[in-house]
Amino acid sequence: MLSEFELIRRYFERSAHSNALTARRAEPSGVQLGIGDDCALLDPASGMQVAVSTDMLVEGRHFAAGADPFKLGHKALAVNLSDLAAMGAAPRWATLALALPSADEAWLERFSAGFLALADRFEVALIGGDTTRGPLNICVTIMGEVPAGLALYRAGAQPGDEIWVSGELGGAALALQHEAGRVTLEEGDRPAMLSRLHEPEPRVALGERLRGIATSAIDVSDGFAGDLAHILERSSVGALVHYAELPRPAVFSRIGDAELERGCVLAGGDDYELVFTAPQARRAEIEALGKEMGLSLSRVGFVQSGDARLMVLGTEGTPVAAPRSFDHFAEP
Ligand code: ADP
Ligand code: MG
Repeated sequence: MLSEFELIRRYFERSAHSNALTARRAEPSGVQLGIGDDCALLDPASGMQVAVSTDMLVEGRHFAAGADPFKLGHKALAVNLSDLAAMGAAPRWATLALALPSADEAWLERFSAGFLALADRFEVALIGGDTTRGPLNICVTIMGEVPAGLALYRAGAQPGDEIWVSGELGGAALALQHEAGRVTLEEGDRPAMLSRLHEPEPRVALGERLRGIATSAIDVSDGFAGDLAHILERSSVGALVHYAELPRPAVFSRIGDAELERGCVLAGGDDYELVFTAPQARRAEIEALGKEMGLSLSRVGFVQSGDARLMVLGTEGTPVAAPRSFDHFAEP
């Protein structure tokens, strides 16, 4: 049976073993001391602020028992990277706290491979964590850097600003509906939607490029309407959004269920796209940025003065009721 320390050494401490991934990896910058001591020691670059965020994934709550460990490793880090993206910060370091029912080596091998592959892609150093026995629970703390004064806050949206959304909304929620057996996706549509749910792509590069352009930003983790509402509350402004302009996967028109579509697009969680606001004068720049990055950026509405209220208008100009976003503690 693997001991706690052997487990950490084998699967998470990269200097202690070598494989294809570690072999081509340079010494992480900004890390004076990584895994193995009582604390890690970091050297943030001068002039930079450190952005910190934590996200936890709990079995039975965020993912089903028996979920693919490689994808879980990916997602546990991806949802944290998404928070840095929404702040305009560049990823640097992460810690990983794991509660595991047992030291299942096949599981650990796949989980750490998924986690570390994404960490390599975004040059994140895993600098510590905690490992304990318990019901499966994965908690990541991510740290990034952003030039002092340039972080993207939720507060900052100004009346007249335009509202933008990256990528597409609703795909992850649709995949969840498929897995729950409430809708059946055609075979050709499945891989793309399921990967939206299980292997989200954090919009890190976009977040960094929006520094100095966007007036506010948030990532869509609980649903577009609810997450935009956070911007509105923090910025003390209202918003008008045109439902038809919200970007969504083409599969929704093949399914032809307007109510399902509305639920997924307006209130579906787990998309990890960025919603941001920017002055009209930056429109051309943002359009050019989307082209350069090969990422669709859709203009979906604008910020208004007044109550922190979101108005979603349908094609006939009538209000569309936005279903409630996900809330762990909301009464059913
Ligand atoms: P302590 O008892 O001082 O908390 P631990 O024995 O828990 O130290 O951890 C030993 C070292 O391994 C520490 O550097 C810690 O940050 C690291 N560590 C523990 N679990 C993990 C993990 N799942 N991933 C990465 N590093 C870990
Ligand atoms: Mg510990």
